[in-house]
Amino acid sequence: MDYRTVLTTCAYCGCGCGLYLEVLDGRVVNTIPCKTTPVNEGKLCVKGWNIHEFIHSPNRLTRPLIRKNGALTEASWEEALDYTAGRLWEIKEKHGSDSLAFLASAKVTNEENYLIQKFARAAVGTNNVDHCARL
Ligand code: SF4
Repeated sequence: MDYRTVLTTCAYCGCGCGLYLEVLDGRVVNTIPCKTTPVNEGKLCVKGWNIHEFIHSPNRLTRPLIRKNGALTEASWEEALDYTAGRLWEIKEKHGSDSLAFLASAKVTNEENYLIQKFARAAVGTNNVDHCARL
């Protein structure tokens, strides 16, 4: 039996609570709060306590999906990125930059949130940027 713990940061919100994931024979099986991270000092909310449950969920999206003829269809990352870039360009050309908006997320890093607002403002030319914490 192979057992270990992995110190990491909760991915559910921007608080950034520290926790240990318990890994048993290559599968993440449980969550333990970290007592030495100053942001949570050994405490977790209900989402953090259960964060290990989504890792191996069969319902988890692991590949991009593109709607084709009304049905979501698996696509490669390259196809999804090409499709998204093409649609953003089309919409911008036809309706202007402010017809687009970008929603960032508490579930990504500060650096990734910085990049999405930079992309919106510098590449697309709109200030229409918001964040899921306000929704
Ligand atoms: S444990 Fe709760 S409060 Fe802490 S980061 Fe996760 S979701 Fe946010």
